[in-house]
Formats: sequence, C-alpha cells, structure tokens
Amino acid sequence: MSVAFVYADKPSAAAELIGIGKRGGFKTFALAFSEEQAQALSDCGADGIVAAEGAARPVECSAQGVAELLRQRGADVFLVGASAQGRSLAALAAAHLDCAMSSDVASVELDGTFATVTRAMYGGAVVETARLPYPAVVTVSAGAGVPVAGCSPVEHVRLESDDRVRLLDETPVEKSGADLHAAKVIVAVGMGVREQADMAMIEALAERLGAGIGCTRGIAESRRWLPVEQYVGLSGEDVAPDLYLAIGVSGQVQHVAGVRGAKIIAAVNSDANAPIFRAADYGVVGDLYSVVPALIDAAAGL
Ligand SMILES: Cc1cc2nc3c(=O)[nH]c(=O)nc-3n(C[C@H](O)[C@H](O)[C@H](O)COP(=O)(O)OP(=O)(O)OC[C@H]3O[C@@H](n4cnc5c(N)ncnc54)[C@H](O)[C@@H]3O)c2cc1C
Repeated sequence: MSVAFVYADKPSAAAELIGIGKRGGFKTFALAFSEEQAQALSDCGADGIVAAEGAARPVECSAQGVAELLRQRGADVFLVGASAQGRSLAALAAAHLDCAMSSDVASVELDGTFATVTRAMYGGAVVETARLPYPAVVTVSAGAGVPVAGCSPVEHVRLESDDRVRLLDETPVEKSGADLHAAKVIVAVGMGVREQADMAMIEALAERLGAGIGCTRGIAESRRWLPVEQYVGLSGEDVAPDLYLAIGVSGQVQHVAGVRGAKIIAAVNSDANAPIFRAADYGVVGDLYSVVPALIDAAAGL
C-alpha cells in the first residue's frame, strides 16, 4: 500500500492533510514535533502519529532526520502545511531525498503512480496543473483537504538534528485581532479605504455578517490600522473561510496567494480591471463608499 506522511504546524492544517492521504487510499502517518502536537492529532484519522523525540527547534533542524525517516518508511509522498517553517522543512527534506517537489498548491490528488497538484497563477487568472512522480514533497495551502475522524496510535522515534540553526528565544505575541483561521466569513480591507475613520463602516459590515476583519499588507504595515497578524497573503496569513469579501483590494498576486482556500471570493472595487475580479466568484464594480452602506442595509435582513 502507498504511504503518505504529513506535517503541519497547526493541528487543523495537519488534519486536512491526513484527509488528503486517506482519501487517496494511502496509509497516512502524521509527524509531530512535540507530545502536545501528537496528542492534538490523535483523533484525526491517521494510521499512526510519529512523534519525534528530542527534535531540535525550529523544525528545519530536523529536515535531514525527517528525510531519513521518510526513506526508511518508504514514504511515497510528504504533504506539508504551507507555513513559513513548513515550506523550509519541505524544501530541505526534498533536497535530502533528491525528489520531486511542488510548493503552495491549492489541491492534491494522490493515485498509485502520481500526485496531481493545482496552483493558481497570475492573481488567479490561470490554474496550473502538474504531476509529480513518487517520492514527492508538496506544500499545501489551507483549505485543500477535508479532515477525517478516527483514533491513531502514537509511536515515538528519535530524529537526528542539525543544530546549525539555533533557536535563541520564543516570545509569545499578544494577539489583538480576530482569529482569521477560525472565521467562516472574512471582510478584507484594502488601500481603497481612504481614512482610518472609515474603518467604522467596515466594522459595522463585519459585525452584521459575523465576520472577522482581514486586510492587505499596506493596511497593516504602512497605515497600521490593523495588527500585522490580520493581513492575508504570501507573507501574511493563509485563510480558508466560506466567504472572503474583499473591499478596495486590488488583488495583487501576493495577496490572492493567501485566499486560495476560500470557498467563495467576492470583491468590491471601483476599477473594473482590478485583478481581484479575476480571482473573484462575484464582483461589484463600484465605489465602496456607496456599496458598503448598501451591503450593511442588506445584511440587516439576514
Ligand atoms: C514580496 C512581496 C510580498 C507581499 N506580500 C503581501 C501579502 O502577503 N499580502 C498583501 O496583501 N500584499 C502583499 N504584498 C503587496 C502586494 O503586492 C500589493 O501591493 C498589495 O496587496 C496591494 O494592497 P491593496 O490592494 O490594499 O492596495 P492597492 O493595490 O493600492 O489597491 C487599492 C484598490 O482599491 C481600489 N479602490 C480605490 N478607491 C476605491 C473606492 N472608493 N471604491 C472601491 N475600490 C476602490 C483601487 O481600484 C485598487 O484596486 C507583497 C509584495 C511583495 C513585493
């Protein structure tokens, strides 16, 4: 039987990857770098949890040990959640294995011979489909898989660590914004919103829709209207809500990269040629200063 290993920083993302492996008919094992991670994954339907003992942090230090484990266990595919650490763990493991790799895919289908992956390109204007022979390493965006349920035995292994990257400190950050990963609806704000005072209108809409508020990088990093953990995209958060409503967002590829897991994307933009309309399922070409109040009124009836 074909074998898949999965790893993600967050249990919810790992659960999706386990779902991809199981639905492909693979014997699927989840890798955990702490006892806490192992426990969090123990009812996610994997055939086993492999808990690495004594693994150095950050996880990249374990890449060589992970590659060795994958080789020993005859893993056909290693699916990794597309976080910053996941991306470098995956790239290093693929280099050690000297195997095929694809990054940040929106979907993965596994069969007995190939992993077939899709990835949005050019701001969502094109979907690229690629095929990888096994063994393969793939980093996967949020929302690509559907979790399955079931208890899994936990097995402990020792991994060799490369201590050239040294963890110096881990300082918890006080998060002030909404948890975008838990939000079913996200209202995302872009630079089309002119004044900070206008955020009141966005907050009113978000409240009516029971939504979390996300934003583009400029809103968080330049204008500092929202905390940095609220910005979505390549260098921000990867989100997978049921509805992503982008307001005054141009839809540059670096932003859209973080929204691939959304079930529905809707956009309000005054420029009919804005790239966001290529990624959106629904769009309103119009001035957000008239459209948002109309949406707030319309949402009152929901
Ligand atoms: C390496 C790199 C990484 C990056 N990572 C990220 C990332 O993770 N996330 C991210 O968001 N960005 C990222 N960026 C920046 C990204 O390229 C874009 O510059 C950014 O997403 C644009 O933000 P925006 O849509 O808010 O602003 P703009 O591009 O300025 O767009 C504003 C939009 O508002 C519309 N608008 C203006 N007035 C109105 C109105 N009254 N009504 C309706 N619409 C209106 C305009 O037509 C325009 O389309 C990255 C860039 C680089 C180089």
